[in-house]
Amino acid sequence: MAEAGEVTRSDALETLHRVFGYDAFRGEQAAVIEHVVAGGDAVVLMPTGGGKSLCYQIPALVRPGTGIVISPLIALMQDQVDALRALGVRAGFINSTQDFGERRAMEAEFLAGELDLLYLAPERLRLDATLDLLSRAKISVFAIDEAHCVAQWGHDFRPDYLSLSVLGQRWPEVPRIALTATATHATHREITQRLGMPEARHFVASFDRPNIQYRIVGKSDPKKQLLSFLREEHAGDAGIVYCLSRNSVDKTAEFLCRNGIEAVPYHAGLDAGTRAAHQSRFLREEGLVVVATIAFGMGIDKPDVRFVAHLDLPKSVEGYYQETGRAGRDGMPSTAWMAYGLQDVVQQRKMIQGGEGDEAFRRRAASHLDAMLALCETAQCRRAQLLAYFGQEPGAPSCGNCDTCLTPPETWDGTVPAQKVLSTVVRLQRERRQKFGAGQIIDILLGRKTAKVIQFDHDQLSVFGIGEELAEAEWRGVVRQLLAQGLLAVEGEYGTLVMTEDSASVLSREREVRLRKEAKAVPAARSASAK
Ligand code: ADP
Ligand code: ZN
Repeated sequence: MAEAGEVTRSDALETLHRVFGYDAFRGEQAAVIEHVVAGGDAVVLMPTGGGKSLCYQIPALVRPGTGIVISPLIALMQDQVDALRALGVRAGFINSTQDFGERRAMEAEFLAGELDLLYLAPERLRLDATLDLLSRAKISVFAIDEAHCVAQWGHDFRPDYLSLSVLGQRWPEVPRIALTATATHATHREITQRLGMPEARHFVASFDRPNIQYRIVGKSDPKKQLLSFLREEHAGDAGIVYCLSRNSVDKTAEFLCRNGIEAVPYHAGLDAGTRAAHQSRFLREEGLVVVATIAFGMGIDKPDVRFVAHLDLPKSVEGYYQETGRAGRDGMPSTAWMAYGLQDVVQQRKMIQGGEGDEAFRRRAASHLDAMLALCETAQCRRAQLLAYFGQEPGAPSCGNCDTCLTPPETWDGTVPAQKVLSTVVRLQRERRQKFGAGQIIDILLGRKTAKVIQFDHDQLSVFGIGEELAEAEWRGVVRQLLAQGLLAVEGEYGTLVMTEDSASVLSREREVRLRKEAKAVPAARSASAK
């Protein structure tokens, strides 16, 4: 056995040098490859950019037969195959973008044993014709990429992945390797269960990306804040800016261009040609900024992305980690920057309540959002919190490379302001049978006689003007943090504020409310030149 192990290890290393031109394996790669080459099943969890591809490409080259790669990323297959062919690897794909003749030619190459790697979309495995085809030639390994797509509660669920358990049943002797960058313990378990891989060995790489600096700032004027961030820290760098809506993608890209930063939009509302052109410019050029919805990025392999910026809050920590993980694949210092504010919380809570899905689905979405909010509002190390979310121990309690480590936020006793907000909400609800959004509550606290305040006689409330000790931005911070801590809730399509089960404990002083001090807004001088 030991001898066989030695042989495969040196074969793998030799392939790494000869075919890929790399000196050494990284992290878990060597262990994974040795295990799979020897015929074992593996579940591999590695962060984006960790080097998952080699984990199946090398076994496919070292073992006799063709390696079958199941990937949902049809749009990237051509690129992946081209890149492999450029290295002299005999790779091909079969998917719906090909005509009959092209498919036939690829099948013939496979049957003749002329392919090292064959990429397939998961939906093809539902076809008997595909299974028949696969049974007529020798297969070296099955690689199931983006394996978290099998998780029914995950954000990337693909029903076709459920049928992949057939692989283990029909080809018990062929090793399988499932790979993903997204995995909490729950997803992890689901992958093993649904793909039918109880015997698989698990390889879990560290999710830490030490070269990425995490920063989350208060949102005041997001486009201008973004512009200052880019001008001051990332002039001429390639990066991705994520926005929630197509409309804000377009507007932000235009805004950056007007202010001298080369930027292109990317979202599902653009035609395929434009999308492809913008994506390939991003891959090719050095300093292009892509402003995009989350439709952009899965599978994109550009090593020198220097920053990922979020102008809107991601729906989950998994999403945040995956999106920010596209920065700094080359290991050089990079920034994950996000602007986050009250409106994000209101909007996302509203979307969950008004959105599709049953009660269980909504509860799930709400708990994903809560974890994301906890990351935004923490006064502790962001990296430590992020790793803890993925069930991993941080190397140190403070990383020294996130905003909370670099400039520790002050916290303060916000119990009294919290009570003021909550009593205003309660008064409106009990005395007037009314519900209002954060804007009106804050106007009341500040004693502002706006048209809407006059219209509803809100200047007659006993709470009118009781909050003049804080500025508007500070009140917004208080409301945002109460929402994040579950001490206040959002309701209905207008995002009105209502009490939660826990609100009462604040009003009755049983509970102290700790709040983060709001960081200073971007000084006006720096962003004055933005149009
Ligand atoms: P993932 O699929 O995990 O996101 P990739 O497999 O695309 O990551 O690898 C990320 C980058 O790292 C690629 O550019 C790849 O060529 C490079 N890479 C992977 N393994 C090694 C290695 N052992 N030595 C040097 N570069 C590597
Ligand atoms: Zn830190």
